[in-house]
Amino acid sequence: MKKLQNFINGEYCEPVNGKYIDNVNPATAEVYAQIPDSSAEDVDNAVRAAHDAFKTWSVTPAGERSRIILNIAAGIEKRMDELVKAETDDNGKPLWLSKETDIPRAASNFHFYATAIEHFASEAHPMEDKAINYTLRQPIGVCACISPWNLPLYLFTWKVAPALAAGNTVVAKPSELTPVTASMLGEICKEAGLPKGVLNILHGFGHTAGAAMTSHPQVKVISFTGGTKTGETIAASVATQFKKLSLEMGGKNPNIIFDDSNLKRAISTSVHSSFRNQGEICLCGSRIFIQKGVYEEFKKGLVEKVSKLKTGDPYEEDNFVGAMVSKNHYEKVLSYIKLAQEEGGKILSGGKAVKPEGRCANGYFIEPTIIEGLPHDCRTNQEEIFGPVVTLQPFDTEEEVIEYANSTKYGLASSVWTENLSRAHRVAGKLHAGIVWINCWMMRDLRTPFGGVKNSGVGREGGFEALKFFTEEKNVCVKI
Ligand code: NDP
Repeated sequence: MKKLQNFINGEYCEPVNGKYIDNVNPATAEVYAQIPDSSAEDVDNAVRAAHDAFKTWSVTPAGERSRIILNIAAGIEKRMDELVKAETDDNGKPLWLSKETDIPRAASNFHFYATAIEHFASEAHPMEDKAINYTLRQPIGVCACISPWNLPLYLFTWKVAPALAAGNTVVAKPSELTPVTASMLGEICKEAGLPKGVLNILHGFGHTAGAAMTSHPQVKVISFTGGTKTGETIAASVATQFKKLSLEMGGKNPNIIFDDSNLKRAISTSVHSSFRNQGEICLCGSRIFIQKGVYEEFKKGLVEKVSKLKTGDPYEEDNFVGAMVSKNHYEKVLSYIKLAQEEGGKILSGGKAVKPEGRCANGYFIEPTIIEGLPHDCRTNQEEIFGPVVTLQPFDTEEEVIEYANSTKYGLASSVWTENLSRAHRVAGKLHAGIVWINCWMMRDLRTPFGGVKNSGVGREGGFEALKFFTEEKNVCVKI
């Protein structure tokens, strides 16, 4: 059985306590690897290594950092097939999806920030002939990067790449449910020429290893993506230490279809915004609001397409929906489908667990599920389910749908479908969300600010926003 190790100071090593956690393939329910159950001692070793490495990495010229980080991107591309398979075995997502999205995007994250750092500049504020102010943007120190299981290497590298490019050193932890690709990254970084200690990768539980990372006094910056409850715990626990904090958290995103939308495109994109990656994307539109004039037509079209989607073995090319990430999560999603029915919802498609034949007979599969007949303020429509479950809700007016859309505690992303340009801009301005897509979903340009409002997040990732987050400004005033 595969036994993963921590990657500290450029070497793979056992956890100090010698303890391991089982790692399960959710498509087969089989334990297929073991990962370190790291403790505060491992965290301390990793932070010390990162602290030492900071002395040289922070003054390594940006061009040299860029060259090494480009090598990491190339290393990921070189091991594409191996990483794709590892991601699918760990997470349960279809192989075609890991190949189309997850692993290529992990390489792009390094490529993007390796080049961005060469264009990152700071400002000057001249005071006529009296003085000149210029702003330095300097790396800060050791950063803790903590990521979730839904887009494992994709989100892990989305934090690590800008932190390293900006000249910081990193101690990073993937979710204990999906640790394998992050573990492989250590080897890739070594081959790429990344100096020892610059990136340290730890495995283990969030409440032990994760908590020890965020509370470590030498960790100056925390970049976290995960659930809102965990974000809350981290923010509260480090509040008195004044660390720099970025939190990307949950969502309950609205997908709004107006009467005048291009219905064919709205329906085919909604299949993806509802069920891609088993609905386990923080950006998925789990609440679909449809204006009454096109409600029946949209519903018929969506149900027709979704009832044809296949769920099962992630290795089979024609399965659109793979396994849920874990038994716990599978049970949580099924419990929400039950709740929706108790709250008066009617299931239009799906609603049940799937037991495929063959190697995946014990896996955690759920049919893509569409529910109607629920009010906007019931639990099903207010709480994040994070699975292949969407609700359909009719509305009459623009004002009404904005109120419904904004009624949750979340505010991450939203989609608006309309051919009316003025309405598109008007509604975009009024939605409580960090991201609004008009007539599309998940079109990503890595230069744009990414993040949420309300309980979905604090701060922005992406583009120069991330480089600003991972550096500290210092104003220097020179009298002339
Ligand atoms: P969790 O919050 O459970 O875990 C996220 C990470 O935090 C994991 O690595 C976890 O470790 C770690 N962690 C848990 N407790 C602590 C702690 N006390 N201190 C430090 N670290 C800790 O989220 P999930 O993994 O379940 O991910 C799903 C959630 O992520 C959803 O809510 C989703 O919306 C959100 N998400 C948000 C995105 C965004 O950009 N806004 C993008 C993608 C997902 P471990 O799991 O090993 O215990």
